[in-house]
Parts: sequence; C-alpha cells; structure tokens
Amino acid sequence: MTSPIWHPFTQHGLGEPIPTVVRSEGAALYTRDGRRIVDAISSWWVTTHGHREPRIMAAIAAQAERLDQIIFAGWSHEPAEAVAAGLLRLMPPALTRVFFSDSGSTAVEVALKMALGYWLNRGEPRHRILVLEHGYHGDTIGTMSVGARGAFNRAYEPLLFDVATIPFPAAGAEQATLDALEAACRAAPAALIVEPLIVGAGGMLTYPSHVLAEMAAICARHAVLFIADEVMTGWGRTGTLLACEQAGVVPDILCLSKGLTGGAVPLAVTMAREPIYQAHYSDDRARMFFHSSSYTANPIACAAAAANIAIWEEEPVLARVADLATRQAARLAALPGVRHPRALGTIAAVDLGRDGADYLSALGPKLLAFFRDRDLLLRPLGNTIYVMPPYCIDDAELDAIYAAIGEAAERFA
Ligand code: PLP
Repeated sequence: MTSPIWHPFTQHGLGEPIPTVVRSEGAALYTRDGRRIVDAISSWWVTTHGHREPRIMAAIAAQAERLDQIIFAGWSHEPAEAVAAGLLRLMPPALTRVFFSDSGSTAVEVALKMALGYWLNRGEPRHRILVLEHGYHGDTIGTMSVGARGAFNRAYEPLLFDVATIPFPAAGAEQATLDALEAACRAAPAALIVEPLIVGAGGMLTYPSHVLAEMAAICARHAVLFIADEVMTGWGRTGTLLACEQAGVVPDILCLSKGLTGGAVPLAVTMAREPIYQAHYSDDRARMFFHSSSYTANPIACAAAAANIAIWEEEPVLARVADLATRQAARLAALPGVRHPRALGTIAAVDLGRDGADYLSALGPKLLAFFRDRDLLLRPLGNTIYVMPPYCIDDAELDAIYAAIGEAAERFA
C-alpha cells in the first residue's frame, strides 16, 4: 500500500520517490536513508538564518514549558506582546497595528478584508482589487483571485472574484504599467496588492524600485490602499529587511510570514496604518474586524517570532545577506548556457530550455529529479530554476548547487 499522505503540488501519479527527512541543521537536511541534502530553497522560502537556529529553538522549548495555546479573541499573552512591540521597533513607524494569523495566504486574506472593511466603515464601500500581472499570493480562493490565473487555479476559476490586472513592468514597458494603474485608480478601487520588486511563484521576475515607488505614489494620489505582500521578500530576502525600503515605500498594509519565525513554525502578521485600524474602532460591534482562526497568535509560534526579532536586532543579519548576495552573484555570472540570469539580494534565478514554457512544462519534473539525484533541494518553477538559500549556507554548498545548475543547463538546453 502506498503512503496515505496526499502531498501539496505533487503529482503522485508520476511515481516520483518522496524522501523522508528526519533531521535538519544549517542549510542541510538529512533523510531517513542517510543522505545529506542541501536546502537551496530554504524549504519553500521560509528558513532565513538556518535550520534549527539555536536561539529560536531555545525560545520554542522555553515557551512550551509555560503556555501552549490560548484563544486570542479578547485574550492576550506575553509572546504576542513581545512580537508586536518588536515589529513596531523594526518596521516603518507608520505601521502601527499588528494582526496575527497563521500563513502567508491568511496574511493576504486579512489584508484584503481590512481594505474592504476600511472602505465600508467609512461609508464608501469599495470592492475592486487591483493586482499585478504574474502575481502569486496564496492558494485560498481569495488569494488565488488576486493571483495570476493559470495552471495553479484552472479548476477553481469560476469561483474566483474579478480583479483588474495591471501589466507587469517588464523592461521597457514600465510606463505602460504606470499608465494602466493610473487609469484603473480613477475607477476608485479599494486597493492594489503587489509583491514588491520581484514576483515569486510567477517566475522570479524582478522590476525596478523606481516603478514600485511610482506605483505607490499613484495609489496615494488616488487614495487607493497600497498592500505590500512581503511574505516572500520580507526578512532580508531581497537585501533589505523589507523590499519596499529599496523604493522608499511604506505600504498602507503589509503582509509578513515565512521568515517571521526564522522559518521554524507557522505564523503571519498583517500590519496596518492607523486609519485602517481606526475605521474599525468604535463602540459599535458591527464595525469590528471579523477575522480569526483557532490558532491566531499561537504562543509557541510567537515565542519563535520574538526570538527571530531579537536576532535581527542583535546580530548582523543584513551583513550576512549582503555576503550571500555577493557569493551568489559571482556564481550566477559564471554559469554557462542559461537564459535571463537575474538576482535580487539572496534570490537568484535563471531560465533553461525554450522561451515561454509555463509551470507545467515537461522539463520541470526532469529537473526536479535531476537535482534530487544530486542531493539538492531545488524546485524549479517550470523552466525557471531559482536559488533562495538560508543565509548561513557555506561556499561548498553553494558550489554544489551552481555546479548542478551548470550541468542541468548543458543537459537540458
Ligand atoms: N504571498 C507570497 C508572495 C508568497 O510567495 C506566498 C507563498 O509562497 C504566499 C503569499 C502564501 O504563503 P503561504 O504558503 O504561507 O500561505
């Protein structure tokens, strides 16, 4: 009998082996059959400092001795208070409110609901959301609605709500993006949601910081809320704590997850500017923010996040990020036979094979197996191979990753 486990984004019918991982450390994963795998994608982009970071593990263990879980509607606890205080120290001062949830998808759902609640409670209901082409914001019905339509969501398309899509600011086409946004803003939508500086699951495509700055300025001019989904880009991934910083942009609503706990346990926050909170603040219960999940602000997850924040405040994380970016850039530049090499901070990507292949390109599973056979966790997006390692990865591990990508480029060109 095969395993009863139904894995995400996995076609079990291909009969691919599914390794069982029993231990992790730094940038390495150890399997039950004794292999050491280099984690080149931070286990779905979450592991920032490294696996089993000692301060985060200690915080989790200590919290498990005190308080495991408490309803968060109308109750609070010290780890959540520590995380909120820490975020207010680290994040832009205009973001004064912190709403907890459990994943990147819920952080985005919360952001969308906050935007609609804001407009309703001001007596000017608005429902339209503007999105950036190629975007990815999660796999719930709401987050798929604001993401690119395609292989990921074909079966659910009739249920997805309608959005207005702004063309991606590809090189040379930036003005078209800004013009389309300006025109869409005239119809008084509720909000624009973007992945700042780089769209992730949509193909690791970068765009310049001045375009992000101009998009935010257009939204501000039209009083359209600007939502930054920094679920992937946050916590140093792009070279700064937030990608928005590189454009001098402070969003109205900010979504964070993945690296919030250093990648150890699930947690997310949606941070908002004060007027968005104030629109919900009232003695009228009908105006409160109607969102929660059973595990909102789980104390053990919050203890991990508080430890992560302490690491950011006390250790030279951005220097590690800069060093990793430099070491990756050198290896990326030396890669033969790849198309469209690109990098932003700790994220590097290349395309293989022919142009325009989508997520379901036949090359994807071949590449996945090729890298797995070389003891590497690399998970191409169609023909795009990207590297997004933990910040602690060493030179030998990076060399192994880039040697295998070079070999793949030769084999699958
Ligand atoms: N937003 C962005 C930009 C993401 O990259 C992701 C996940 O990769 C999400 C949202 C969804 O996060 P999660 O998988 O934790 O729900």
